[in-house]
Amino acid sequence: MEELLEKILAACEPFVRQGKLADYIPELTKADPNDLGICIQSSDGRMRHAGDYHKCFTIQSIVKPILLLQALMDNGIASVRQKVGVEATGKPFDGINYTEQALLSDHINPMVNMGAIAICTMIQGRTYQEKFQRLLSLTKRLACNPDLSVNEAVYLSEKRTGNKNRALAYLLKTYGMIEDDVEQVLDCYFRACSIQVNCSDLANIGFTLANHGRLPISGERIFPSEYGSYVNAILMTCGMYDGSGEFAVNVGVPAKSGVGGGIMAVVPTRMGIGIFSPALDEKGNSVAGIQVLKQLSQKLYLSIF
Ligand code: GLU
Repeated sequence: MEELLEKILAACEPFVRQGKLADYIPELTKADPNDLGICIQSSDGRMRHAGDYHKCFTIQSIVKPILLLQALMDNGIASVRQKVGVEATGKPFDGINYTEQALLSDHINPMVNMGAIAICTMIQGRTYQEKFQRLLSLTKRLACNPDLSVNEAVYLSEKRTGNKNRALAYLLKTYGMIEDDVEQVLDCYFRACSIQVNCSDLANIGFTLANHGRLPISGERIFPSEYGSYVNAILMTCGMYDGSGEFAVNVGVPAKSGVGGGIMAVVPTRMGIGIFSPALDEKGNSVAGIQVLKQLSQKLYLSIF
């Protein structure tokens, strides 16, 4: 398997030159656009890796399924579904999807920024610090990594420049979809996006989603199976932004990308995959990362379709 991974990385390496680092969060431009790494956590309990798998990067939007899981664990499916819809918007991750002068829960989903910002308000906790700490604890458990922390430089960089997200959050507030103080909600969202991870963290998170809540190795169940189905279904239709349809056709597994260059893929019952390559296409997805997944899917028959 390691040999196969090395071969696929070598074949996909030229694709890094087709992408561009995200620069709307200035700190993200410090990444090396040539990095490409992968980890796979399989059901035989082994972690396989290749390339720049040990490099750290910020989780960015890959925290969205974890935010959703935390909200489901705290409130149940019915309450979450009432507040944030599940339909693909077909719009960019930071798009505004509203019609007839109204913004409704069905216009957003948990994998786009507006939906994820609304989901932050559903995490239990007396303060936003407490809500964030609970989210960080869940992320550590899913990643099987007690040392995860926030990359302060990226967090401060996005907090300073994240005016589009500020606008989205105020729109949510205008339409009564969030009640709390907008800056506090956003602070939680920006911190969540700035959690620093590596490919093996993403592979472990993906594995637990692939196994409906069971952690790798120990097999301990940390969330109910139906929450796994809920999250994976939304990842399948909305996880790769407005490139989700194409990804479903070419790769065919639930996945989530982030503008830090990470992709987490969920191969039901079989494996969790973590990829890092920060050169992105115009939709915000890692160009080489998608190519690696496409080849891997063909070789290992990963598509669920
Ligand atoms: N923190 C980023 C933002 O809100 C996350 C976007 C992403 O990874 O898609 O713009």
